[in-house]
Amino acid sequence: MTDFTMEKGSDGVAVITWDVPGKSMNVLQREAFAECERLFDEALADNAIRGIVITSGKDTFAGGMDLNVLSSISAEAGDDPAQALFDFTMNGHRILRKIERAGMDPKTNKGGKPVACAIPGTAAGIGTEIALACHRRFMADSPKAKIGLPEILVGLFPGAGGTTRYSRMVGAMAAAPVLLEGRMLDPKKAKSAQLIDEVVAPDALLQAAKDWVLQASDADIVKPWDQKGWKMPGGAPYHPAGFMTFVGASAMINGKTKGVYPAAKALLSSVYEGALVPFDTALKIEARYFTHILMHPSSSAMIRSLFINKGALEKGANRPEAPDQAVRKLGVIGAGMMGAGIAYVSANAGIEVVLIDAAQEAAERGRGHAESLLDKGMSRGKVTAEKKEQVLGRITATTKYDALKGCDLIVEAVFEDVGVKAEVTKKVLAAVGPDCIFATNTSTLPITELAKASDTPEQFIGIHFFSPVDKMNLVEIIKGKETGDIAVAKSLDFVRQIRKTPIVVNDARFFYANRCIIPYINEGIRMVREGVAPALIENAAKLVGMPLGPLQLVDETSIDLGVKIAKATKAAMGEAYPDDAVDEVLFWMADQGRMGRKSKSGFYAYDEAGKRSGIWDGLAAQYPQTAEQPDLIDVQHRLLFAQVLEAVRALEDGVLTDIREGDVGAILGWGFAPWSGGPFSWLDMLGSPYAADRCDDLQDRFGARFACPALLREMGDKGQSFYGRFAAEAKPAA
Ligand code: NAD
Repeated sequence: MTDFTMEKGSDGVAVITWDVPGKSMNVLQREAFAECERLFDEALADNAIRGIVITSGKDTFAGGMDLNVLSSISAEAGDDPAQALFDFTMNGHRILRKIERAGMDPKTNKGGKPVACAIPGTAAGIGTEIALACHRRFMADSPKAKIGLPEILVGLFPGAGGTTRYSRMVGAMAAAPVLLEGRMLDPKKAKSAQLIDEVVAPDALLQAAKDWVLQASDADIVKPWDQKGWKMPGGAPYHPAGFMTFVGASAMINGKTKGVYPAAKALLSSVYEGALVPFDTALKIEARYFTHILMHPSSSAMIRSLFINKGALEKGANRPEAPDQAVRKLGVIGAGMMGAGIAYVSANAGIEVVLIDAAQEAAERGRGHAESLLDKGMSRGKVTAEKKEQVLGRITATTKYDALKGCDLIVEAVFEDVGVKAEVTKKVLAAVGPDCIFATNTSTLPITELAKASDTPEQFIGIHFFSPVDKMNLVEIIKGKETGDIAVAKSLDFVRQIRKTPIVVNDARFFYANRCIIPYINEGIRMVREGVAPALIENAAKLVGMPLGPLQLVDETSIDLGVKIAKATKAAMGEAYPDDAVDEVLFWMADQGRMGRKSKSGFYAYDEAGKRSGIWDGLAAQYPQTAEQPDLIDVQHRLLFAQVLEAVRALEDGVLTDIREGDVGAILGWGFAPWSGGPFSWLDMLGSPYAADRCDDLQDRFGARFACPALLREMGDKGQSFYGRFAAEAKPAA
């Protein structure tokens, strides 16, 4: 293994270069840390070496730890995975501490060799933690480079000393944006935040680091916490200022995480407890909390869904075998809210786009949407004038179907109407070549039905974006009955080009995401009718990790859309339609003219400026609250089971074919309690026997919609888990 190499210069500087073969970015693999340590020991022992520079052979520094390593350590550890993870973490601390002490005398702090880190580009996670252990950090002034500790975003916290070192460097309060929010900073901001010491021109980076190590004195390389009389900046916990910080931080974390993300709390605990003891003990405390978090079911579920499985899906885990299908020229039909967004993200990814609408003015307006997003990017310093020109230059706004000549993919986003869509399909197919794939962005119409307008249904597919397109990262790819492999591969390659996350599902009413989110909204509305306090409904949802309560969500998506969907569903289902009780409330709201946020009136009241104030008090007059209110856990389980049972049914029906897509799609598509790892991960946490019993109880008390699906019943009887039973399908991408 040669992830790290060392070159000893005649100037007396040993340069240790991290360059993982065959990867575009360095990630720390299991054996590599030992290799780094061996080289470091060699440099320390060599009398000709006066200082050490750690750098990267790539234009970035490192993406962090290979999180698969953590899963494999616990998987291999037999019956004591916690001990194995703790030992692994402590070994990392030992190596980084060795770098930090660099051979200096423990009593006098003298005689160590200066160690600088030369960071050519982005550094995250353990990459940043290695840099923090060094004595001085130089970062290249590169426009794309970012540095930070984003572990919290996958349900972890920096566990290789980053938490302890950085909070001791800047104080708990100043460390919060980097540690608690996982913010990645550009070199200049990183310097103000003290994550790095110097920003230098890329071609002067290595020399600057070498120059520094050659002139650094003994005093330059002793970390503040290894000096006598060190005090925590901003105050340790029992200092009056520190007390205020920690009390405030604790309240803020509980407010933001609603107590469902254990990593944030563990992070704060390790900073708090660590600040009261010497540095090496603080590292041990950090390692204990880190192990606790790694062992927490929420953390492993979040890592599995948001890192491992999301990555596998993005790499094409479910892509059929087919040659590269990267899109060269895209046609977007319909320049409304969705079409304009799709045109923007595609042009932004370097794809040439023809954007068509019925009127030239409408097509121009769609292109204008891209322009306004680029302007916003410019005002934030994220987009240059040149980039704006390039991106806009790729979008041709027109009414002429001839311009579609040469397109290899079409995405249709016209009105949600079978007739209009069929007419557009025919016009497009008359203009494009025989190999062009045709995709519809419909949110409710069956793909197989729409494909009838094409004589090549194998080239017809659904590519369902979520609104707003530039922000929402999930794309649902829907196969009609006759959709062929090339159409699927094309759609997946397109989604990869625009850097979003795909799931591939089969055709059925509302596909996957909308199928699960509608029962959530409906359960909330149903409870209003029963007299459950709306505040209880909304807060119960948020306390279990949903980003929006069901009533706020229906206000956002609009009540008239809810009415339209309800009417269409009832027409399609006839007698079997289960939601009349919901419709009573929804239709009454529409009759009052309360259409949601867009009309500044819905389940919530809004002020003139459209700011949401509180639950509309007219609701209580129509649907009085009962004297006795239900238990919080009952309300939460009704809201969550409404969604997850639909996900299980989607799996039973073959709409979902891979539970990884069910979990990743739920978190990215509609924000399903991310701490849980998704519906299937949550059911696995509950355990199938309990989940099946809970269905029976909910069914008895609240109705047949909670009936236990046969699959879950069988799994409950056999004591199976979803990830255990469907592990073969949930294999990582090769
Ligand atoms: P929209 O009303 O904002 O835009 C539709 C556009 O299509 C309009 O600009 C209209 O002028 C144009 N159009 C209509 N008929 C046309 C024709 N014959 N030829 C060319 N252009 C024509 O609608 P939207 O919200 O962008 O939705 C478009 C599609 O995307 C619908 O199928 C909708 O179901 C789906 N969708 C919407 C959302 C959402 O949140 N709005 C989310 C996912 C999918």
